[in-house]
Amino acid sequence: MNLPVLSADCGSCFGLCCVLMPFSRESGFGVTKASGTPCHHLQPDDRCGIHATLREDGWPGCTVFECFGAGQQVSQVTYGGVSWRDHDNLGEMAAVLSVMRQLHEMLRHVVEAEDRVAGVTGDLRDRIGALVAQTPTELLALDVDQLRAEVGDVLARTSARVRARWADRVDLAHEDLAGRDLRGTDLRGAALRGAMLIGADLRGADLTGADLLGADVRDTDVRGATLDGALFLTQPQVNGMRGDHDTRLPGGLARPGHWLRE
Ligand code: SF4
Repeated sequence: MNLPVLSADCGSCFGLCCVLMPFSRESGFGVTKASGTPCHHLQPDDRCGIHATLREDGWPGCTVFECFGAGQQVSQVTYGGVSWRDHDNLGEMAAVLSVMRQLHEMLRHVVEAEDRVAGVTGDLRDRIGALVAQTPTELLALDVDQLRAEVGDVLARTSARVRARWADRVDLAHEDLAGRDLRGTDLRGAALRGAMLIGADLRGADLTGADLLGADVRDTDVRGATLDGALFLTQPQVNGMRGDHDTRLPGGLARPGHWLRE
């Protein structure tokens, strides 16, 4: 089965996140706005008018957000190339984008799980791959929570299989490690899923094989850290971290522009 691209291609999207997502000043956006209201920086060609200076202009939230390719899928497949500008039900479109983003994120994790442990995902990859091609009505009728639980079980099995090779691995899942000094720590094979790592210092730490599913890594300092074998690390997580040229990232994840400027 041909799967959709699982990272944002803004050139094939109608700027849906800038219109359909609600956001607030407190969450790192320059203004507070409701779903369905276009951001005032969105240009007529659906490009961002301050893309090059988002952080400097007080919009760091936009540099962290990632749709996992849901934007272009909704724009080009679900709505067949019809822009939000020509659509009279933006509430529906926003709900569809929300479902699609969750499906794309799950699919991205399932693809990684299958790459790590062949056969562990069964037919899940193809089933989600079929769901993302559905109509708006079908997408909105999906039981996303049930699917998320199924995906969660598969990811947990994958994680256990991968991390088993590190006998001294630590279990810090869902721990509050905010602001902790973990410089240079050997975290190979660690369970860090759901961990609170806001502002933690992981400079030079080795997270090869560590499970970072859902970990809150905003402002986590990963300069010089090894993340390239970490499990289930996503682009929005990376975007929220503080890294540098020496941070080793998994393949397929981009080095955020702000890492290179700071
Ligand atoms: S500032 Fe730019 S990227 Fe952020 S919501 Fe507005 S148009 Fe979109």
